[in-house]
Amino acid sequence: MLRRLFLRAPTSYRQASHAYYFAPQLSARVPPPAAHSLSITRFLCSSSSSQVPDGTSVEHVEDDVNLSASPPAATISIDRSGLYNSPEHSHEPSPDSELIKHLKSIIKFRGGPISVAEYMEEVLTNPKAGFYINRDVFGAEGDFITSPEVSQMFGEMIGVWAMCLWEQMGQPNKVNLVELGPGRGTLMADLLRGASKFKHFVQSLNIHMVECSPTLQKLQYINLKCEDENNTDGTVDKKTFSLLAGAPVTWHAALEQVPSGVPTIIIAHEFYDALPVHQFQKASHGWCEKMVDLAEDSTFRFVLSPQPTPATLYLMKRCKWAATEELAKLDQIEVCPKSMELTQTIAKRISSDGGGALIIDYGLNAVISDSLQPNPTCQAIRKHKFVNILDDPGSADLSAYVDFASIRRSAEEVSGDVSVHGPITQSQLLGALGINFRVEALLQNCTDEQAESLRTGYWRLVGEGEAPFWEGPEEQVPIGMGTRYLAMAIVNNRQGVPVPF
Ligand code: SAH
Repeated sequence: MLRRLFLRAPTSYRQASHAYYFAPQLSARVPPPAAHSLSITRFLCSSSSSQVPDGTSVEHVEDDVNLSASPPAATISIDRSGLYNSPEHSHEPSPDSELIKHLKSIIKFRGGPISVAEYMEEVLTNPKAGFYINRDVFGAEGDFITSPEVSQMFGEMIGVWAMCLWEQMGQPNKVNLVELGPGRGTLMADLLRGASKFKHFVQSLNIHMVECSPTLQKLQYINLKCEDENNTDGTVDKKTFSLLAGAPVTWHAALEQVPSGVPTIIIAHEFYDALPVHQFQKASHGWCEKMVDLAEDSTFRFVLSPQPTPATLYLMKRCKWAATEELAKLDQIEVCPKSMELTQTIAKRISSDGGGALIIDYGLNAVISDSLQPNPTCQAIRKHKFVNILDDPGSADLSAYVDFASIRRSAEEVSGDVSVHGPITQSQLLGALGINFRVEALLQNCTDEQAESLRTGYWRLVGEGEAPFWEGPEEQVPIGMGTRYLAMAIVNNRQGVPVPF
């Protein structure tokens, strides 16, 4: 994921050593902020501070310088004449990891290859050895960095969006604030700190974290400054509260487990790109699914299915949503059934309970072609470098471009009570929510070091390409991702059009 903001610089972005100034054209790249209610302007001047555990200190700047599933896999006989291998595949003789043994045993037990989607799902979320399951993979010391880790302003702006929606919802007394795939919990922590002055809003919140990784759940607990309720009878389940907002926090493995019947705001940042994708390739006899098999030397390799697989149903569905001219250009297509299903769950929930969802990810508003080659969109990233996805599975992140057009169609298909807005670029979203005001307010009163961190963070979030104001080492130039990340909202029609779509 860029995946996530693909790092060039090895330093933590919330800490920096030199001061730089915005080039005059910098703000011109960001659309002018829209006018907002007084409450939002006040929010932009609010303050925050946090400390990420695990020894990585994350510095928050304050205004007053008071710093502180895929379908069941069928058994498929394989036409091995259509095989191809990635040229960069590594053959280092190292003992198989637990995950590699597991993947090999699935393929052997099936007597045939597995889909790329099944491979991706095992690699990322296998309950014992998946990439996310046992470790903190974020930040400069991890494998990749995400927008919330770049700057506190990201979570704060998402908080502005959530508060605007809550106002459009009529300021309900109870709201489920759900985050899908919260990583370290940084986005939610920054959102709550920023929103904490808006008592009525934070008092309405029930926070729900949908997270499959026990390790990350623990990190989220710490970062949200959670405490368990002090109940004396010991007979009922203890509630957990975030001291950042005084709001109850609950963890779930899936969105379906979040209690329904309450208006709901859902945030999904870099969640969709972790959902497993199926890949198809056009062959002389039609579309074949790309599968992962074992070569004779016991390494993984790609093969093509000789005939349609169960996932072809999703391919057909996706193709129906596309224009003939769009499809004619493609000889590879990627589909994400889990994304379609998740979107339908979101749309149904919003339709029945009211509220809305904000989805932000690296993607396209079109059919996705091949995530793997030649220009990687489904990427494996380890220690900030792209690696082959079949190479040492489980040690690197896998991510796929998100197909926003498919998300729109999936939501619209399931309910007429919801409307879909966007995608717009992340730069447009954050600009209209007021990130320019926020960065200026924070810059009023900060050290040179913090100023540099704010400026480079701002650029990474809303800029495009290399920062023109950068005077530091070339290999550390901040890369703006403001136009490569897209944002889409799904809201209940009762809420009208969400800000700033
Ligand atoms: N939103 C965070 C983290 C993105 S990484 C950020 O922007 O920093 C993806 C997150 O989704 C991780 O927390 C990962 O553990 C979680 N995740 C991935 N697949 C999941 C699944 N199927 N169910 C629940 N959580 C999942």
